Amino acid sequence: MSKIYDVIILGAGPAGLAAGLYAGRSRLSTLIIEKGQDGGQIAITDEIENYPGQIVDGESGPSLIERMTQQAEKFGAERVSDTIKEVELEGEVKILKSEKAEYQAKNVIIATGAHARPIGCKGEREFMGKGVSYCATCDANFFEDFEVYVVGGGDSAVEEAMYLTKFARKVTIIHRRNELRAAKSIQEKAFANPKIEFFWDSVVEELFGDDILQSMTVKNVKTGEIRTVEADPDDGMFGLFGFIGTVPNSDVFKGIIDMDERGYIKTDADMHTNIPGVYAAGDVRIKSLRQVVTAAADGAIAAVQVERSMSDYF
Ligand SMILES: Cc1cc2nc3c(=O)[nH]c(=O)nc-3n(C[C@H](O)[C@H](O)[C@H](O)COP(=O)(O)OP(=O)(O)OC[C@H]3O[C@@H](n4cnc5c(N)ncnc54)[C@H](O)[C@@H]3O)c2cc1C
Repeated sequence: MSKIYDVIILGAGPAGLAAGLYAGRSRLSTLIIEKGQDGGQIAITDEIENYPGQIVDGESGPSLIERMTQQAEKFGAERVSDTIKEVELEGEVKILKSEKAEYQAKNVIIATGAHARPIGCKGEREFMGKGVSYCATCDANFFEDFEVYVVGGGDSAVEEAMYLTKFARKVTIIHRRNELRAAKSIQEKAFANPKIEFFWDSVVEELFGDDILQSMTVKNVKTGEIRTVEADPDDGMFGLFGFIGTVPNSDVFKGIIDMDERGYIKTDADMHTNIPGVYAAGDVRIKSLRQVVTAAADGAIAAVQVERSMSDYF
């Protein structure tokens, strides 16, 4: 019979590590299970400028996450590298199964995060963080006075394009249809913005560059015409932002935990899901701002709720 932990935290991104820190400090027996590299999405981000206190030159997503990991471990959170494929959450003891092991806990905090839906063009992975981004809040100011291209046509794509105009010299929205899906009020603002241009009926085909994004081919889906977009020689590069939705890492909980139609987990303000003893924190849950600071806050709240549920003095 394997150990029954007070709490198992799924995912070692900012939400999971903050939950681990708070659970460990509360002397809860805590296990963090992570399937990939520590840090989740910020492990692929060179610069994190908007996490409070992250102001030292040369600091990066990985260095921030390294400190978060050390801090969680310092307070006793155990760690294991594994991928949870199946869960039984209804009983008092929750069971999490991977291909190689079975884990048990009285409480579970789901902090499995989300990932940006990829643009789907050739070379995309190679240029992530080197011109390609999925987060205007995070990366817009790296493109101060540069040219930027935005893929998408929904509310978030158009709103993010408008946000990017505060930084970029010119923003071109590349949309596969000949009209936007965004709300009319948002469209009106975008059409009135002199910095925004459009490539209609178009998809990005392939990205090129010498370590940074310098050119790309864009195909007109109606005519088949391919145009090549080159960086302004004075800039040497341009930005390409994909806003065609995010995908929560919640497949394993489908049919078990209440979610919205896109797979984001429903919680209350204290991170409780519909199942007693099961909490969700960070990007995997329904929320309005998906950032490191909000993920860490969710993780802290979830762990404190676990502690309170197990203490008789509350
Ligand atoms: C390119 C990029 C740049 C960004 N820049 C910034 C920025 O500058 N500032 C900012 O505040 N935010 C930024 N963000 C957003 C920020 O990274 C996220 O909001 C934050 O990481 C969410 O944390 P999380 O812990 O909820 O999820 P994640 O960071 O997604 O971590 C979830 C973890 O769970 C693991 N996991 C998933 N499923 C399982 C499973 N079944 N079993 C075990 N483990 C599992 C994953 O491997 C992952 O490590 C950026 C995001 C991206 C993609």
